[in-house]
Amino acid sequence: MKVPQFMPFVDLKDYDALKESFEINWITEGPKSKKFNEEIRAKVNTYHGSFAPNGTLALYLALKACDIGEGDEVIVPNFTFIATANAVEMVGATPVFADINMYDFQLDVDTCEGLVTEKTKAIIPAHLYGFACDMDAIMEFSERHDILVIEDAAQALGVEWKGKRCGGIGDVGCFSFFADKTITTGEGGFVATNSPDIHEKVKYLRNQGRLDRGTFVHPEIGYNFRMTDIQASLGLSQLKKFNTIVENKTRIHNLYTELLKDVTEVTVVQPRDEITSFIPFRVVLTVDSENTSEGVMNYMKEHEIEPRTFFYPLHKQPCFKKYVKDEKRYEGDAFRNSNYAYDKGVCLPSFASMTEEQVRYVCETIKSYYAKKKVTANV
Ligand SMILES: *Cc1c(COP(=O)(O)O)cnc(C)c1O
Repeated sequence: MKVPQFMPFVDLKDYDALKESFEINWITEGPKSKKFNEEIRAKVNTYHGSFAPNGTLALYLALKACDIGEGDEVIVPNFTFIATANAVEMVGATPVFADINMYDFQLDVDTCEGLVTEKTKAIIPAHLYGFACDMDAIMEFSERHDILVIEDAAQALGVEWKGKRCGGIGDVGCFSFFADKTITTGEGGFVATNSPDIHEKVKYLRNQGRLDRGTFVHPEIGYNFRMTDIQASLGLSQLKKFNTIVENKTRIHNLYTELLKDVTEVTVVQPRDEITSFIPFRVVLTVDSENTSEGVMNYMKEHEIEPRTFFYPLHKQPCFKKYVKDEKRYEGDAFRNSNYAYDKGVCLPSFASMTEEQVRYVCETIKSYYAKKKVTANV
């Protein structure tokens, strides 16, 4: 049995939905985008929102709209998809890396205290794997240091921290509709905010420095960060399946948890109580403290299962050497937990159309790996 890491949850119903854009002969941002925008805002619970071509550029727009640029510093988790930090680099600011907690591998605000300088302008909590960062601690931290909060909620559409929707808690929140996110438009992104100021700046930036189309007078400098109505049609159709996607992914998470509960060598990471809406992005597990996850992952690959590692810590990224070298703030064991996470973590295959048989096969394979290891250890 072959088990891929991920499959997008698209079908011919989504395909049919695209037809409407062709029937009304409107393919650039128009009626479908307007409706999709309303529905996403309703999911995030913000007054304002704009599309972006993808999640990376949504982060870029958010940072730009917050006037962050050269000479500024932005705190990002050391453990996240690299786009979180690349967007900071893209506006000309410096990403400053903070460690994560050991419980569910989200940004640990306690490790941020020593990172703040007069250059610090913002913090980007990234909500990962369907969990959420401790937004109480992050909001308190940001108020105390008078910095902005830009949420990277690319993986967290519909996820809640204590009843509040991720991406709608900080000053601005960014989403991605890439193929493996909770819903997809192929590529796509969204910038959500309750701030009319930030929203207005995003609108100028994303549409050639003007608020409306059809004029060649441009009050501001701006660019083209628009999406298309074809993508919005797909997005609307995907939103219709949102509850099914959440139910399926939750069922898969629970089945993995149940089937692996007696395997003492692994732990399926669970949402803490404060996460009032948990929407598994992937099912993630860690292996026991004596081994790295490499062995079990190789064994899975030999059995046609496609696992993924956890994120490679940003401070180790070859491309970020210049940010880490001679940086006093990173001396000592500053990244202990993100190093641990990378060594021990496995993203298990999980996607809305994954069958129960596939989950059982993955669990049997993991069990047989550890059973074999025990036998070899005993001879
Ligand atoms: C996917 C993702 C992004 C980037 O989104 P793209 O649409 O791929 O550009 C940023 N941050 C996180 C945490 C992501 O998972």
